[in-house]
Amino acid sequence: MPAIFIGHGNPMNAIQDTRFSREWEELTTALPKPRFILCISAHWETKGTKVTYSASPRTIHDFGGFPRELFEVEYPAPGSPTLADMVMAQYPDQVVQPDHCWGLDHGCWSVVRRIYPEAVIPVVQLSIDYNLSLKEHFKLAGSLVALREKGVLIIGSGNIVHNLRLAQWGSDQVYDWARDFDGTVRQRIEEHRFTDLLELDHIAGSSLAVPTPEHFIPILYTLALYKDEEIKFFNEGFELSTISMTSLVLKG
Ligand code: ZN
Repeated sequence: MPAIFIGHGNPMNAIQDTRFSREWEELTTALPKPRFILCISAHWETKGTKVTYSASPRTIHDFGGFPRELFEVEYPAPGSPTLADMVMAQYPDQVVQPDHCWGLDHGCWSVVRRIYPEAVIPVVQLSIDYNLSLKEHFKLAGSLVALREKGVLIIGSGNIVHNLRLAQWGSDQVYDWARDFDGTVRQRIEEHRFTDLLELDHIAGSSLAVPTPEHFIPILYTLALYKDEEIKFFNEGFELSTISMTSLVLKG
């Protein structure tokens, strides 16, 4: 299977027809049909790494201040204890633990519902352990690569640049530091210098572009799966001046 990183941005992309959500919908035909989806969303951080074990995960509306229409969205895809077991089996010593509470958060469903609106493919989420370094996340993610051979579509969902404090609603302008950081990250990826992205202090603008790491970490889960293949970028552009929507597919 291919592997994807998606810049999810504003939750309204889940229901609005935007240039970004239109590209998500185009993935439906561009991708081979997966048996399972495994999503690493910026919006599920835990102590230790968890994997959702519910057979019917609930739709979590983990945001505030949006229209009722967005709170009414349900994405009733089944979960998959089978996939959760496959994920846990990639690790020794119970490094990844089953979770029976979490469902699908908006980092996951806002994107996946546009790609697979029928909600029939089982979806499982893997959490982000907030105690791990970027290097540790990259190493952990690399162990998932075998799942690509088993029909699992792995989706990292975050944003390369994500600064809500400086976000400007309704503005088309993009800060220079935001555009520069996004461009540098893209260049490193094109040069296959993924490990450079594990030391963000060395990239100009990182303190503004990545004030907290949770939206950046999901791209590491995608890049760690790279297997000498074409990397296709899409959805380049910004929302709210400070949120990069840049996304990529490892084409498999
Ligand atoms: Zn987000």
